[in-house]
Amino acid sequence: METKKKIGFIGLGIMGQAMASNLLKAGYEVCVYNRTREKTASFAEKGCGVSYTPKQLAGWCDVLITMVSDPAAVDAVMEGPNGGFEGLCKGKTFINMSTVSPEFTRQLAEKCSKTGIIFLDCPVSGSKPLAEAGTLVILAGGEEAEICRHEPILLSMGRKVIHAGKAPAGSYLKLCVNLVMGHMTSAIAEGTEFAEACGINPALMFDTLDANPALQCRYFSMKRPLLLDKKFPPAFPLKHMLKDARFIMSAAEQKQAYIPVTEKVLELLEKSNNMGYGGEDISAIYKGLKEYEK
Ligand code: NAP
Repeated sequence: METKKKIGFIGLGIMGQAMASNLLKAGYEVCVYNRTREKTASFAEKGCGVSYTPKQLAGWCDVLITMVSDPAAVDAVMEGPNGGFEGLCKGKTFINMSTVSPEFTRQLAEKCSKTGIIFLDCPVSGSKPLAEAGTLVILAGGEEAEICRHEPILLSMGRKVIHAGKAPAGSYLKLCVNLVMGHMTSAIAEGTEFAEACGINPALMFDTLDANPALQCRYFSMKRPLLLDKKFPPAFPLKHMLKDARFIMSAAEQKQAYIPVTEKVLELLEKSNNMGYGGEDISAIYKGLKEYEK
């Protein structure tokens, strides 16, 4: 029987905290690293190892996972004298689960292939509640055999692994999904704003959507209390959707895809972010709409 792989996990933000916890629950030997060390305290209490540098972590583990904000954050933890790449070597695996641009993913894949590091491009779909429940959908790009070989690890954090094709197909697929999610969020934020302007209680709009089997949507139900209570604690921070919308527009330009509605969603996200709502949930674009009008 194959012994369980040692896993190094970098990035204990909203998603990473839950994902690393689920790897521990699945019985893997896990060691973590986070830029802000205080966030590792609850892991140390559970008997999980904590590394001082990504390099130290990568040297110890068989599989290194990154779940950080964006390409700059991946560079910050992977490059340089104390970076993860310094500790990785031929035969080890590097799985990037952060949402980054397909171009950045392509560069990571190339760098790994030159040194014999196995690379998987595995962003996730699903936010904090799904990460906590271990029911994320994992969008996997890479060599098919390697995706299959690493599925037990991925399925400790998720309910399904979608095989997207060679990297950066995972990153492209993630952007397709977030394009749709950005529109859905904008739709219910605008619907709320429009209902209120028309003197209709927006709760009735949500009730109607929910009662119609063709329009019923669990995502709408999740965002409903935020939009009705006007409180937006972050499950998926608006600033991350803004980052993704920028990646989408840039990929669309490269691939000559015409996506005018997404361009408008990007504009709305930019405005909401400039108003200071980047750290709040994506549904805080409602506040951007409200204040933009004035
Ligand atoms: P988050 O809560 O903002 O956490 C970001 C993590 O990245 C933290 O561990 C942070 O470290 C680290 N980080 C940021 N900049 C860094 C830098 N320059 N150097 C080192 N570490 C850095 O983000 P999240 O919501 O967990 O999301 C993580 C990734 O998953 C993002 O790419 C996001 O788009 C994607 N995603 C998120 C969701 C969601 O619903 N939240 C869903 C699907 C995908 P510190 O603790 O030191 O700040």
